[in-house]
Amino acid sequence: MADEGAFTVAGIAAAPGTLAEGTLDVPARAGDAGASLPFSILHGAAAGPVLALVAGIHGMEYVPILTLQRLRTAIDPATLRGTVLMVHIANPPSFFGRTIYYSPVDGQNLNRVFPGRADGTLSERIADVLTREIVGRATHLVDLHGGDGNESLRPYSYWITTGAPAVTQASRDLALAFGLDRIVVDGDRPTDPATSMYLSNTAITRGIPAITTEVGGLGQTDDASIAVVERGVAGVLSALGMRDGGPPPLSAPMWLTRNAVLRASATGVFRAAVQCRDIVVAGARIGRLSDAHGRTIEEVVAPFGGEVMYVVGTPPVSAGEPLAMVSAGTVG
Ligand SMILES: [Zn+2]
Repeated sequence: MADEGAFTVAGIAAAPGTLAEGTLDVPARAGDAGASLPFSILHGAAAGPVLALVAGIHGMEYVPILTLQRLRTAIDPATLRGTVLMVHIANPPSFFGRTIYYSPVDGQNLNRVFPGRADGTLSERIADVLTREIVGRATHLVDLHGGDGNESLRPYSYWITTGAPAVTQASRDLALAFGLDRIVVDGDRPTDPATSMYLSNTAITRGIPAITTEVGGLGQTDDASIAVVERGVAGVLSALGMRDGGPPPLSAPMWLTRNAVLRASATGVFRAAVQCRDIVVAGARIGRLSDAHGRTIEEVVAPFGGEVMYVVGTPPVSAGEPLAMVSAGTVG
C-alpha cells in the first residue's frame, strides 16, 4: 500500500515525514465563480495530534497569511510528531478583492456563517468546506486573525469558555501556549454546532479545543508581528508534544473578563483619539464620529477603565460596526 500511514485531505495525500499541498475547491454556482483555498499538510513521521492553523478568514489580515508561508518551510515533518494542517488563505475572494470584514462576492462576514451550507452563498460554502475538511480532521485548531485592514490592534487571544469542560480546559492550555499576554475570556458564544457562527467555535462545539488569535493590523506586514505568530505556533507545537523545545506556556497573562466593543451609532467619519495599548479611564474620549461635513455626531467614550485592544484607524465607518474594544481584567 503506497498510501499506508498517509494523511489525506481533499484527495491530496502526505506520506509520513513529508509535506504535501493542494487546494480545497469550492465549485462555482450561478452567481459566483467558486473559490480555491490553498492548504498544506505537514505530516509527521511519528503519530501525534492534528493541529489545524487557519489564516485569512478575513482577507486583509495579512500577518497570519505571511506567517504560515514561513512556517510551511520552517516546520520539518521528518521530526514532527503528528500533523500540521495549514489553510493559507481561507477567504480568497476577500484576499484578492482586498476587502475588510465582508466578502466582495456575497457581502457576508465569513466568520459569522459557520458551520456553513453546502448549497449556500459562496461564504457559506467556504465555511462548509472548512468545517468538513479542516475542523473535521483536526484534534486542535488555531484560527489566526489580526486587526483588519482598518484596525490598529495590540495582540491578544480569545478563549471560549462555553464548550464542554475538558474542551474549555484544553483551549485554555492552547491560549497559554500561544503566549499572547492578553486573553479575552469569551463566555458568550453559541453552544449549538448547527449555529456555531465562528470557525473556532465550530471546533469547540464539536469537542475540539480551539482559540482565536489576533496579531497585526492596518493591512501591515511587519516582521515583528510575524515573529509573534511564529512564536505562538512554536509554543503550541511544544505544548502539544509535537516538537521538542519551543517557548514555555505563559504563566501569568491578563485574563480580560470585561470587554466592551464600542460600535458606530451612525455611518460617518471616525477619528480616533487613542491608540491601541492606551490605558483609559471611564469616560475618556476614544474618538469622534462626525458626518461627512465634519459636524459631530457623537463623542465616543470608554464605558469603564481599561486598555484599548483595538481602535479603527481609518476614517470610514458604517452604523453598527466596531470602532474600538476596551478591556479590563486581572493578571494571574
Ligand atoms: Zn479577523
